[in-house]
Amino acid sequence: MSAAADQPLTFIQGGGVVDPVRGAVDPGAGLLVEAGRIIAVGTAGNVRPAGAVTVDVGDAVLVPGFVDAHTHVTIRPGEGDQHQQLQAAPAWQAVRGVANLRRMLGSGVTTARIMTEEHDIDFEFRAAIERGEVAGPRLRVAGRGLSPPGRHGSGPAGVSGPADLRAAVRRIADKGADHIKIFTTGGVSSTGTALTDSNYSGEEISAVVAEAAAAGLTVAAHAHGGAGVDLAVANGVRSIEHGALLTEQNVRAIADSGAWLVLTTTILFHPAGIEAGDAREPAILAKVRAARAAMERTAELVRAAGIRVALGTDSMHGLFGHELQWLVEHGWSPAEALTAATLHGAMVAGTGDAGAFVPGRRADVVALGRDPLDDITAVFDVRAVFSAGHQVVDARGYCRPRPVTADPD
Ligand SMILES: [Zn+2]
Repeated sequence: MSAAADQPLTFIQGGGVVDPVRGAVDPGAGLLVEAGRIIAVGTAGNVRPAGAVTVDVGDAVLVPGFVDAHTHVTIRPGEGDQHQQLQAAPAWQAVRGVANLRRMLGSGVTTARIMTEEHDIDFEFRAAIERGEVAGPRLRVAGRGLSPPGRHGSGPAGVSGPADLRAAVRRIADKGADHIKIFTTGGVSSTGTALTDSNYSGEEISAVVAEAAAAGLTVAAHAHGGAGVDLAVANGVRSIEHGALLTEQNVRAIADSGAWLVLTTTILFHPAGIEAGDAREPAILAKVRAARAAMERTAELVRAAGIRVALGTDSMHGLFGHELQWLVEHGWSPAEALTAATLHGAMVAGTGDAGAFVPGRRADVVALGRDPLDDITAVFDVRAVFSAGHQVVDARGYCRPRPVTADPD
């Protein structure tokens, strides 16, 4: 079956094409797409051949599809007890996951990096989306994250010690994981877990990183600050996730190692996040307030050190735009926020074929009603979303699965 038979040569046309890295719009430009990939960027007069099908999104501007670099399929933070939500019956989680994935797609997220699920449900959803059963972003999955017994993120089966950690990494890799998730500190949404002590020794982290590397995978560390950050980056972890309580020392360690920082501010700051759920518990509300205050200082340190950031909603499905808005409110330019949301997210997720409008990359596109370089709140005004060249969200927010084709995944 030829790819061309599935999708005719298509020209996606709107009010212009946004290049986040240059921080510029090319008015009048559109995208020529074949078999799910961009083959040219330019005006219809210059790049659209006779016979190409034109999909016109009016005066909406085209932006590379967003990459949510840290989220989950099944959790809803505002409902509280996220650990318990992960343990719910698989059928219940599947039903809710379908709705969550739709919200992600509707907000312009075309790739999502999933950072812990139970029941291998993230592997199943990845397949269901690829097979056109469910509407949602392309998923990169990690299965169950690694945490010591009884700690934040450990669920029913914590793991510690270099040998057991190596065996756990091999099991997850054998299932077809795209990356490995490890918890090196406690979390905001649970009690009795410290945000800055390290859950694991350097030897344990190094064992995880080495075993993952042997399987061709990178390691992401949930870590808020202190030794949990320093040990993680010193032992080869590729990204620090959250980082709400980073010290100057932590920021230097991240910068020196070249690791990524994936910020997840919406779950912490949005009233529908932890505040609406677990923070009904006074000890957790105190943690939320402390983490919010610390994030203000963290933002300054991170900007000053020039650390590369990507963005994740951490299960605030449909609210990805708030991640960009928070960055702009904390000193990043709209172009930098858009780069974090697209190119940087794709690099962190290991999806180097997305994140930019470059010939050869996937035609993952979000069409926005206004130019987000002028006003970042334009990211909330989603008019259409395309996944590998197929329109999967329309102006009314109706979502559909990407049809199964011979096009690239
Ligand atoms: Zn998370």
